[in-house]
Amino acid sequence: MKRIGKLLLSLLLILLAIIGFWVYQRYDPFDKIGKNEKVLQPEIETTGIPEHYLAAAEGDIADEVEEYRSSWRIHFFNVGQGDAILIQDENFNILIDGGDRNSGIIDELKTLAVDTLHWVIATHPHADHIAGLIDVLQTFPVINVLDPGVDHSSRIYGNYRELVNAGAISYTRGFAGWSYSFTDDFAMEVIHPDTLTQYDINNSSIVIRMQLGSTYALLTGDAEHEAENAILASGFDIDSDIIKVGHHGSKTSSSNEFIAAVSPEWGIILCGEDNKYNFPHAEALAVYQANQTSLFQSDTHGDVLLLVGDSTYEAFPEFTGIFVPDALPAPLRVNINSAGIDSLTLIVNVGDVTAKRIIENRPFKSLDDLSRVKGLGLARIAAIKEQGVAMVTD
Ligand SMILES: [Zn+2]
Repeated sequence: MKRIGKLLLSLLLILLAIIGFWVYQRYDPFDKIGKNEKVLQPEIETTGIPEHYLAAAEGDIADEVEEYRSSWRIHFFNVGQGDAILIQDENFNILIDGGDRNSGIIDELKTLAVDTLHWVIATHPHADHIAGLIDVLQTFPVINVLDPGVDHSSRIYGNYRELVNAGAISYTRGFAGWSYSFTDDFAMEVIHPDTLTQYDINNSSIVIRMQLGSTYALLTGDAEHEAENAILASGFDIDSDIIKVGHHGSKTSSSNEFIAAVSPEWGIILCGEDNKYNFPHAEALAVYQANQTSLFQSDTHGDVLLLVGDSTYEAFPEFTGIFVPDALPAPLRVNINSAGIDSLTLIVNVGDVTAKRIIENRPFKSLDDLSRVKGLGLARIAAIKEQGVAMVTD
């Protein structure tokens, strides 16, 4: 009996081992999914929209989530003073800049369960755009890197360049006219810099016009007036629905001519809270006001998620409240009886020559009185009144 008991016990143990192994095989999390995906959170896996966006969105956005699920998501990250933008669809992750060192970009990407970056684009080699990319290149598998190929003497740029060269990364030097299609209606086109001209580092920024269905987004890095003028002269189609405002809202970017040609409905300024440069500058804000562009600002709205469908888009800021250009502070009004040439050119239809004529013809009793200035006819004065920037006081 003792031997039979032992035999039964052995059989039982073997049976338990077999069952245990079967259960282990079936439920081992590493069996079917990659290691990185262990950080997935169910909400994010389902919708692609982080909880804090959902919490901040007004009303029930479940319908929108459904509508946009198969389309595109543009995450404008609040990384302090710097740029970091992630564009996603079901199959691609494209990161444009990574903010400065300790920008928090790694956590942002992990929260979104990003496991591979198909493209990393470094617009230009300044630290507030590429220092964060050093962590990114060390943390995530990166397939392609695109940058303007501009050398910079900083150690940060040296580290970045080493990582790009060391990995199994396909490197592309971006120049105007280069384009890449992810799908039939999802593509990016580099419209600056052209290869023939040497610019300073900001003006050598890669500028990309991204097609997302019938929506276009212009992503400008830190391109300033010189680059904007080169783009205008190049003849590229720059008409876009969305703009990443150039150089953190600096007055050295966003010329009225350039923004009028882009005619963006919606824009975002990526800048740090209480940054030492006083970004965004009032002069740049006035240009967007004049062109009726609604603006978000990362320092006040936090991360901003833009959901883009085939023919429409919608913004979900981390902190609610659209910055309404109409609410610009009073100093942005330009007194035609006292303003200097730079301020006068913020007025629609007023360039340098007309600004000088305005100064010569002072004082004016009213905006209609501008008809005394050569070149300002009734239609142009009507446009000036409609813009609402020009004003008259003694
Ligand atoms: Zn910058």
